[in-house]
Amino acid sequence: MSNAAETPNLMEALVSLAKRRGFIYPSSEIYGGLNGFFDYGPLGVELKRNIRDCWWRDMVHRRDDIVGIETSIIMHPKVWEASGHVAGFTDPLVDCKVSKQRYRADQLFFAAVVIDGKTVGYVSALESENTAGELQAAAEQLKRKKAIQGALEPVKVREFTEATADEIPLIPSPATGEPGSLTPPRAFNMMFETNVGALKDASSVSYLRPETAQGMFVDFKNVVDTTRVKLPFGIAQIGKSFRNEITPRNFIFRSREFEQMEMEYFIHPDADWLACHEEWLKWCQDWLISIGLPASHLSLHEHPKEKLAFYSRRTVDIMFKYPFGVQELWGIAARSDYDLQQHQKFSGVPHVMFDEATKAKVVPHVIEPAVGTDRIFLAVLASAYAVEDVKDEKGNVEQRTVLRLSPRIAPTKVAVLPLLKNKEQLTNRAKALYTKLKKRYAVQYDDGGAIGKRYRRQDEAGTPWCVTIDFDTIEKPGDTFTLRERDSMAQRRITESELFALLEEQVY
Ligand code: ATP
Repeated sequence: MSNAAETPNLMEALVSLAKRRGFIYPSSEIYGGLNGFFDYGPLGVELKRNIRDCWWRDMVHRRDDIVGIETSIIMHPKVWEASGHVAGFTDPLVDCKVSKQRYRADQLFFAAVVIDGKTVGYVSALESENTAGELQAAAEQLKRKKAIQGALEPVKVREFTEATADEIPLIPSPATGEPGSLTPPRAFNMMFETNVGALKDASSVSYLRPETAQGMFVDFKNVVDTTRVKLPFGIAQIGKSFRNEITPRNFIFRSREFEQMEMEYFIHPDADWLACHEEWLKWCQDWLISIGLPASHLSLHEHPKEKLAFYSRRTVDIMFKYPFGVQELWGIAARSDYDLQQHQKFSGVPHVMFDEATKAKVVPHVIEPAVGTDRIFLAVLASAYAVEDVKDEKGNVEQRTVLRLSPRIAPTKVAVLPLLKNKEQLTNRAKALYTKLKKRYAVQYDDGGAIGKRYRRQDEAGTPWCVTIDFDTIEKPGDTFTLRERDSMAQRRITESELFALLEEQVY
């Protein structure tokens, strides 16, 4: 069996499966697509909704201390001044003047090529799993090309943001391989601008939100005034965010329009914020495992103190082993009272809560778990995908593609299959079961083709169970069906009430 991260060209296989089976299409494909934008097809939209619904149920419905909201995508422009996004939501942008390619300076790396202690040139490479190896190989190539004798020193990898003004003209562009065309990095604001109303001038400029979090801070007072929340409590939101990423890449991992699931957990300023941060870190990891991500693919990345934003006390990212490397999936930040203080300052409206214990008004601090639904989707797809050798009914070996999705998030929970299409007794029983299941679960009815083929089709779509209505169903007592499990391919007989009990237990 080949699986997930071990499959060569796994990303290609995933993109192809996603298109073929209607999980994800490139946006506006008939016009050539639009870089950084994607559409979710019929199976994809179900999977994405299920991820989102599981999160909402576990984060909001099943807790007593968290409420949900849904705020507008375009907010008052002052929000983004207060939050710091207008001034500081930037990435360092580098242009190649010859190829017109654009790079993020923190994803572009270079090294001096040093032979016998003397710098003879520079090499560059884009961020990858093996940036150092690529730079070393490029350095060896340059040495050969220039036919310089002597000992080549191991390359020292540096980020383009660290290049000095003297070095920049000497660093080759990754697009052309030639030096002289890269510009010094400049700050590029990633917010999409738009105009609100009929007039297009400076006074009408607004932004598509780059994160959902500010909605929670801006509505903090409304929630406190209109509900009975007491510290500690959280406000959660799921919604679209937009970032004009310089280099959207790795399929839906980094796109320009994406969905976020964020929660702001407000705590007393004197509360043990570190313990609370740890609790949320654990909650988030457990939740990812509960929807089927393998624990072995998860790891933590603690942001070094010197790289933290000044208001952040601690940020830890839950990393996932994607096919293209270990990357951030979920960021859990302790943001102090920065956001509420900023909105208090910019709006002039107090953002406080009354503390019964001290009889004083306090500005709460916040712990923020922020995750992208699309990044979870990709993690789920990558770890669920497998290609296996299996034997058909005649004992011949064939390959099957299977998505081992958790029943919690699988787009279709059960496929109902009458053994034969033209035998009314079978189809009537199958349709009756299908109609009953459909009231509560996403199910499919499939009577087309050989039963083995139908099983394969469902395997590839990640359907955990197939129920076949066969001759034993109609001829033998007990009204049982064949239940076929996707992962083990094992078959057993099951009654209708047992089937409902199984679903009740596994789909939650
Ligand atoms: P990165 O460093 O990867 O750009 P970030 O640290 O800027 O991400 P946050 O601002 O913390 O991301 O956003 C919270 C979460 O939103 C991320 O952990 C990620 O899951 C998701 N996210 C952020 N940017 C994108 C994007 N361009 N496409 C898809 N998901 C994203």
